[in-house]
Amino acid sequence: MNVETEQEGEDLLYCWSISRGELCLRENYCKGCAYCVEFCPNDVLSVSEQFNEKGYHPPEATDPERCTGCGLCGLICPDFAIWVEEEERDES
Ligand code: SF4
Ligand code: SF4
Repeated sequence: MNVETEQEGEDLLYCWSISRGELCLRENYCKGCAYCVEFCPNDVLSVSEQFNEKGYHPPEATDPERCTGCGLCGLICPDFAIWVEEEERDES
């Protein structure tokens, strides 16, 4: 699976490659509500077996190749833990 992890201070950042850029998760912001998992229209996400530092199970992108970058997960996440970073496209 094409995922990069980065430690940013206390935060662990995951970035999965998707067709439109990256799907990113700041693991320790997550409260494990699973809204993102439930509402993703493409079944990209699953609840991870890992615990974050708050003791919740964060999501993981088990099928990142199915992610269209629609951004719905980021819109419904109450804790700003997940979002899409779109790749800049050369329009010229
Ligand atoms: S919606 Fe946000 S807080 Fe809820 S499980 Fe997903 S990433 Fe975590
Ligand atoms: S951006 Fe859309 S398709 Fe990708 S994980 Fe989030 S809700 Fe699912």
